[in-house]
Amino acid sequence: MAIVTIERKVLQKNDELAEQNRELFKKSGTFVINLVSSPGSGKTSILEKTLESLKGKVKVAVIEGDVQTDLDAQRVAKFGVPVVQIVTNGGCHLEAKLVQDALSNIELNGVNLLVIENVGNLVCPAGYDLGEAMKVVIASTTEGDDKPLKYPAMFRNASVLIINKIDLLPYVNCDLAELKKNALQINNNLTVFETSCTTSYGIKEWSEWLLAKT
Ligand code: MG
Ligand code: ZN
Repeated sequence: MAIVTIERKVLQKNDELAEQNRELFKKSGTFVINLVSSPGSGKTSILEKTLESLKGKVKVAVIEGDVQTDLDAQRVAKFGVPVVQIVTNGGCHLEAKLVQDALSNIELNGVNLLVIENVGNLVCPAGYDLGEAMKVVIASTTEGDDKPLKYPAMFRNASVLIINKIDLLPYVNCDLAELKKNALQINNNLTVFETSCTTSYGIKEWSEWLLAKT
């Protein structure tokens, strides 16, 4: 039972720091999203497409979270936006403290949108508030249609669901209607988008929706 207590204390401390981050974002007028998904569902690709789509319309900054390497930060930097890479060295989620440290390397004033790409993991990122306005969960068609039922906390805590790799539907074992039904059964308030980074399907709809939030 000691483990439960420690876990609770860690989360309590994290929530305090997340609130501090939220205050900073409020002061600078920055809308913040926390991108979460399992590894390989297309977080960075969606981010690249979003940056391309929002270019010149809004000032964006990015925090990249990865277990190792700055490969994703390199991809994002090509779009000319400020980007900070957090390497967790094995840590399987971002915490508010890590985001707070990364923020010391970003001038938030004038930044309308901050995208935090979390470590690829559908489990613990659900429990860690980073101070974001909303979690955006990405589920790709290649993962099948049962992810919302198997990882309910993530879908319950998210405000948006992006169903990615929609172009692969004919080739994979995923029933789109079933996937949506499962997600909405867990969280009826989810705003759902369908996208493909290969064909750019749905990117405009998602980007415009996001732009309207900033
Ligand atoms: Mg990535
Ligand atoms: Zn974790």
